[in-house]
Formats: sequence, C-alpha cells, structure tokens
Amino acid sequence: MEFRQSSKLSEVCYEIRGPVIEHANALEEAGHSVLRLNTGNPALFGFEAPEEILQDMIRMLPRAHGYTDSRGVLSARRAVAQRYQALGMEVDVDDVFLGNGVSELVSMAVTALLEDGDEVLIPAPDFPLWTAVTTLAGGKAVHYLCDEQADWYPDLDDMASKITDRTKAVVIINPNNPTGAVYPKEIVEGILDLARRHGLMVLADEIYDQILYDDAVHHSAAALAPDLVVLTFCGLSKTYRVAGFRSGWLVVTGPKQHAKNYLEGLTMLASMRLCANAPAQYAIQAALGGRQSIHELTAPGGRLHEQRDTAWRMLNDIPGVSCVKPKGALYAFPRIDPAVHKIHDDEKFVLDLLLREKIQVVQGTGFNWPTTDHFRILTLPHADVLETAIGRIGRFLSGYRQ
Ligand code: PLP
Repeated sequence: MEFRQSSKLSEVCYEIRGPVIEHANALEEAGHSVLRLNTGNPALFGFEAPEEILQDMIRMLPRAHGYTDSRGVLSARRAVAQRYQALGMEVDVDDVFLGNGVSELVSMAVTALLEDGDEVLIPAPDFPLWTAVTTLAGGKAVHYLCDEQADWYPDLDDMASKITDRTKAVVIINPNNPTGAVYPKEIVEGILDLARRHGLMVLADEIYDQILYDDAVHHSAAALAPDLVVLTFCGLSKTYRVAGFRSGWLVVTGPKQHAKNYLEGLTMLASMRLCANAPAQYAIQAALGGRQSIHELTAPGGRLHEQRDTAWRMLNDIPGVSCVKPKGALYAFPRIDPAVHKIHDDEKFVLDLLLREKIQVVQGTGFNWPTTDHFRILTLPHADVLETAIGRIGRFLSGYRQ
C-alpha cells in the first residue's frame, strides 16, 4: 500500500521552508555551519523576547491550561480592539479572533470565503502563504504586479485589469514581505477604491505595521475604509519578536451586516480548532499594553535600522545587483540584472549558493515573482554578519554561470 499526498497539494507551493532546506540540513549534519537567511525568525538572530511579556506569560501559565473561547480570551481581544480603536476604527471585542499566528487565521479566513474557482487578487511578489492557502481552498490566486521601478508599489492598472466576475477579495501586504515597501496613502486608497467599485473583501496583512524605517508612515486599510468589509491581520511574531509563541489576531471591520453568513462560517472554523494556544493568548495583553516598543530598534542608530542600511548598501555594491531601499519589515528583495548574470533557474541559483557559500536565501519565484532575477535576504542578522554574507554572495555571483 502506497500513501500519496492529496492531489489538492499538487499546485501548492511554499518555498520559504522548501526543498533547499534538506540540503542545508545535510550540510549541517556533515559539520558545516550554514547561515540561514530564509525565515523571518527574530529569535535566531539574538533578538530576545521582551521581559514583560515573558513575565506575564509565566504568571498566567498555571491558569492557562484549559481551552478558551474559540475567538480567544476576552482580556487579549479587548487589548487588540483598543489598539485599533486608538487608530479611529470602530472595533468591538466580538470583531477580534485570536489565532495560532497570523498563518492560521489567513488559512481560516480564506477557506471560509472561497467557492471552487473564486479568484483572489494577491501581490507579486507575495508572502507565499496567501497564494498557497487560496489554491488549497480551491480558489485561484491572481497576481497583480508590484512595480520595482515605483518603489515596489502595487500597479493599480494591472490590478484593475485582473478583476473578473469571479474576484472575491484583494490581499494587501503592507509593509510588504518580501520587498520592504510601505505604501503611501494614495496607493492604499487606490486599492480600496477598486475593492469598493467591484464589491471585494479586503484582506489586509499588516503584521509589520510597526516595523518602519526613515519617514515611512503606515496607513491601515481598515482605517481608510470604514465602508468596506476589511479583515486586518497582525500579531506578536515580528514586532514583539516571539514568533515561536504563535500568537496573532484578525480584526473584522466595516459593514458586518453584509458579511453575517461569512462570519458564521469563520466562527465555525474557529470553533473546529477549539482555540488558539492559551498561554500565547495571555502574551497579547502584556505586549500591547506594555512599555516595550520596537521603535528603538527601527529608529536611526537602532539595530534593525543599521542592518537594513548595511544590507541595502552592500547589495547595491555588487556589480549587476540593485535593491530598492526597504522602508519597512525585515527583508530586502534585490534584483540580479539578467544582462550581467543570466539566471535561468533561480532555485538552482539558491542551491548552488548554499552548497558553495553555506548561505541560504530564498529565490524570487518562491514569492510568486514571475521571473528568475530576484532573491530575498533577511535584514535580521547583525551588520557584521550581513556584511560578510553579502560580500560572499557578491564573490559567488562574479564567477557564477548557469
Ligand atoms: N504575513 C506575513 C507578511 C509574514 O511575513 C508572516 C511571517 O513571516 C506571516 C504573515 C505569518 O506570521 P505568523 O508568525 O503570525 O504566523
């Protein structure tokens, strides 16, 4: 008897933790040290969990051994609601769902929405979970282009041209993974306008909403469109550096009377997985109400700011490589000029880099980017580590032929 994966998985792609990992593991088992620059996991790069969050979780642990309400504990949902009320949004505790990270909530939100063949507008490049989950739910991911020449902002004409009568929702990832773009108000409003005209649900992945550099300002989609049904996703993984706790939230805003049936479905999916991990739910109130802030890391002189600068400068110093300066998040998405280094297969490029230099990055096509001329690198490692790693990538590229 042979057990085979479901054919439902045949079109699903998730390269951030993809097959190259097996090679990285094998190298480590053979005694090599591999610099893993593939997952945005702050803990791997010496970022500590804020003490206040740890203390609160430890204090609550003896009382966190039971299932909670499927939407999450009230104290945490209230803290989340207040976070958005402070931005002028109308949010009630019942509009908040807590989940095992944003990832779980993305999966629930998309599954509850789509009929087979329904279309979702998703950016290219994207955080590939959105495409994978849409495909798995029987939907069709339709990618709208983000324009590298325009600081990686979404191309609204391209987006408009891809709307059909099957389009159900539009995904906005702002600040963006992998590009680091932070969208100006007009761009967010332009997307919202299309959603308004075509009756689309807005799925706003704002997990990096506090990770901003220079003069970047985050414009929350829900705050700009109280007349639209917007689901906003955020959590503790990045801003509070506790990705392993698996703690996130989803907030529903807008004319919920138009989404009553959908929300019943979402509530049912939330109850089917009983509840999110309870100790991690107790981290939310401490995080949102506490003194700790990521601002000291992202402001000039802060660790994340310096690392972003180093990565951007070093990448642009490589002949044939250019990189738009990230204004937010934890990544850079450089371009390898095909006239200088022709990469036919970017997964092979990433594998060759790993085998030769023991550095693991992720190929651009892993983010549903249509051409083989980009890769994503984290800006999480210390500046000296980034300097060495990017220096080695430059040397590797100079002699690389495919
Ligand atoms: N959304 C984006 C844009 C991300 O980059 C990530 C993680 O890298 C997630 C969602 C998932 O976050 P979580 O740890 O909350 O599941």
